[in-house]
Amino acid sequence: MSRAKSLILAALLAPVLWAADFSGQSAYDFTAKTVAFGPRPPGSPASRKLSAWLVTTLKSFGYQVIEDRFTAKTPRGPVPMVNIIAKKPGKPGARALAVSGHYDTKVFPFTFAGANDAGSSTGAVLELARCLKGTPTAKDIYFIFHDGEEAYGEWSASDSLYGSRNLSARWRKDGTLARLDALINLDMIGDKDLHIVEEEYSSEVLRRLLWDVAARKGYQRHFDGGRFAVEDDHVPYLRLGVRALNLIDFSFGPNHSWWHTPQDTMDKLSPQSFQIVGSVVAETILVLDRQ
Ligand SMILES: [Zn+2]
Repeated sequence: MSRAKSLILAALLAPVLWAADFSGQSAYDFTAKTVAFGPRPPGSPASRKLSAWLVTTLKSFGYQVIEDRFTAKTPRGPVPMVNIIAKKPGKPGARALAVSGHYDTKVFPFTFAGANDAGSSTGAVLELARCLKGTPTAKDIYFIFHDGEEAYGEWSASDSLYGSRNLSARWRKDGTLARLDALINLDMIGDKDLHIVEEEYSSEVLRRLLWDVAARKGYQRHFDGGRFAVEDDHVPYLRLGVRALNLIDFSFGPNHSWWHTPQDTMDKLSPQSFQIVGSVVAETILVLDRQ
């Protein structure tokens, strides 16, 4: 390759290289801070404190923050919930991209730290918001922190995904959904032993794009968690016609035995895993921004 050609290539890749600013350590620290609020079921005092901290932190990054408040009908009666959304504006009239996670924890009779599920997606989406704040994008980027992902009883269509069902319906009504080119959802991505699933509800074209980015960065061996379907916060958007992808490592501990147990604690997570997933997502967002 000529020097001129390599300079052109470097210029083309420059916005992508910018995204290397994602810090796995920072995402891990944001996760530890999230977990320190205690169990975070929707409507609980810890959830209110966490959502207030998310709003303050996102505003300190310079974003406009939207609070999508609603009352969910749950098997335990009405529960107040709130999705937190930070908006990074693109060019006027531009299309949009979204990256999301959930910040609620499932209700248990024991003290559930929920470090991986879902402290990890809270910390990772917050770090994505931090690391992309200075990067100009053509499209609007939404950073979404869903409330009420978890079921109260047995997982069902009416008892799960309260936050994403509410926000996707709201966005269909107000026209945001029609501008949304892609949504990437993260859940349980902090495990030290990282194996991301090729999730089968997900849009194939998005999955291929992100897997290519992962391969380019030499991370293929962490995107080998098997091929199966996992219902998560991307599904309500998919149902309304949005291209959406779910990134989840659904083998947590021996035989998945740490999932939804007191074992889901910070010592099972590593900054390196956040670095792998977060840097791949940041780069994928910037590739999608140029499409
Ligand atoms: Zn869960």
